[in-house]
Parts: sequence; C-alpha cells; structure tokens
Amino acid sequence: MIIKGKDLSTSIKEALKVRVGVLNEQYGRTPNLTVILVGDDPGSVSYVTGKAKAATEIGIRNTTIRREATISEQELLDIIEQLNNDDDVDGVLVQLPLPKHINENKIIAAILPEKDVDAFHPMNVAKLWLKQPCVLPCTPKGIIKLLHFAGVDIAGKEAVVIGRSNIVGQPVAKLLLDANATVTVAHSKTKNLAEVARRADILVVAIGRERFVTADMVKPGAVVIDVGVNRDTRTGKLCGDVDFEEVQHVAAAITPVPGGVGPMTITCLMENTVEAFVNRMNK
Ligand code: NAP
Repeated sequence: MIIKGKDLSTSIKEALKVRVGVLNEQYGRTPNLTVILVGDDPGSVSYVTGKAKAATEIGIRNTTIRREATISEQELLDIIEQLNNDDDVDGVLVQLPLPKHINENKIIAAILPEKDVDAFHPMNVAKLWLKQPCVLPCTPKGIIKLLHFAGVDIAGKEAVVIGRSNIVGQPVAKLLLDANATVTVAHSKTKNLAEVARRADILVVAIGRERFVTADMVKPGAVVIDVGVNRDTRTGKLCGDVDFEEVQHVAAAITPVPGGVGPMTITCLMENTVEAFVNRMNK
C-alpha cells in the first residue's frame, strides 16, 4: 500500500476551506499568515511558494516578506516585532535555514508563541514535551495523521525513528511515544543501524540521504514513513531517504517522495494557522 499524503492533504485542505468560510462569517475576517523568506535558496523559495499556494487555495490571507541574505539580525527582529504587534496577523513563520550571521534560535524565540504556527518556539516545544495543549510541529503532526489515514494502530507497536533533529526526528518520536508506541531513536552514532531498523513495525526515516534505507533494513510488513527530501543523483528528480523501488515490496505500507509527507507538512501548517486564528479570536 502506498500512503498517498497528497490525497489526504487535498481532503484536509477542502475541509479547511469550508471552515475558513464559516470563520469569515463568524468573525468578519479570515486567518492571516505571514512568511518571512531571507535570501534566495531554491529549496526555501520552493517551500515558501508551496505554502503561499496552499494558503490561497484555502482562503487564508497570506503575505511573503522577502529580504536579501545580507539583512541584519536586528532588522529581522524588528520585522518580527512589527508582526507580533499587528492584530491582523495570526501566524508568523520564518523560513529556515537562515544565513550564518543570524542566530536562528534568537529569531525563533522572538516570534510570539501564539503566532508560532511552525511550533518551533521554545515555549511550544516545552509544552509538547510536558504533554500540555500546544501547537504541534507540522511535519511530525502530518506523519501521525498519515499513520491514522493508513489505518495503523500505533499503540503497542515498535517504532524506530532514524534522525534526531529538533524539527523532525525528536518531535516525531515524542508523538509516537504519546500514542503509546515503544520508540527507539537512531542517529549517526547508532551501532548496527540495520538491525535496529529491522525491529520496527513503524519505521520513520528523516536523515537527508538518498536511498539510505534499503530493503534488508526493513522488517517484512513494516510501515515506512520517508521524510527525506533529496535530489536523486541518477535522475535529477526528487527522492526520499528510502529506496522506494526495493522497499515497497517488503513494507506493508510506504509513503512516496514526492507526494507523501511533504504535502502533509504544508497542510498541517495551514491547520495550525487556522487554529492560531481561532485561539486569538477567542482570547
Ligand atoms: P538534519 O537536521 O540534518 O538531521 C539529520 C539527522 O539524520 C541527524 O539526527 C543525524 O544524526 C541523522 N543521520 C545523518 N546521517 C546518518 C546516518 N548515516 N545514520 C543514521 N543517522 C544519520 O535533518 P532534518 O531537518 O531532520 O531533515 C531530514 C530530512 O528530512 C531532510 O532530507 C529534509 O529535507 C527532510 N525534511 C522533509 C520535510 C517534509 O516536509 N517532507 C520536513 C523537514 C525535513 P546525528 O544527530 O547523529 O548527526
């Protein structure tokens, strides 16, 4: 079974569009998202374009503020402060990565937590780890939705997450743990990685290396979630971290790249923006 994130994403976006219409009647305005893009990295430009497109489809007002890579940290902080103070703005997102001279942690911490639709602010991260109500980070949230969509009962399963970044690996592991899986987090120092991976009923891979996970690393019947986004050196096309051609014959279910986790990340961002709007309206 191929887990079609694109299909799930389309149906969630359709429901969000209806909801935004109802919210507009209720509150007299629609949610408003501002994305800040620094520099012209092609990957970042493409992500930001995708976010703006999805927002427009749903009826979320959206603005992209573009600045040169030479912008100073203080200038960026000033823009964020303005957006924090703007009552008409519900969601603020700074596209990462930022140029080296800018301290990303400082920038993320400057965003008002209630407008932090990416859920990277330390306050939102802390709430996630303390199991308090919070905004969920988009990619991990999308992965859990994909597992539900595929009919996977997470409770009691052995889950292995390869990768331990703050934005994917660790929060995915936490959400799987909260859904009562037994979770192992593997990383670049993990010994016998293939053996560890083969234990997984649910294998989540977020490394950033093309065709890293081969069929011999996957337990027959496992569910494989491929988060990676890489450029295939053979074809020049987008590909994941998993050797899809091989692994699809071993796994019970697998997400494709593109069309798996990627669209869900953007859709969950839209959902977070609508939730931020509703929370602000009801404050
Ligand atoms: P990251 O911050 O670079 O983290 C990569 C992780 O992979 C690290 O924890 C690293 O281990 C681990 N790793 C690297 N080489 C390894 C190896 N040989 N064996 C085991 N573990 C290894 O990356 P990220 O931000 O989590 O992103 C991972 C991938 O997901 C990238 O391709 C990115 O583009 C993609 N991504 C996709 C979406 C989406 O929406 N589809 C969203 C976010 C990211 P150490 O900690 O030991 O260094």
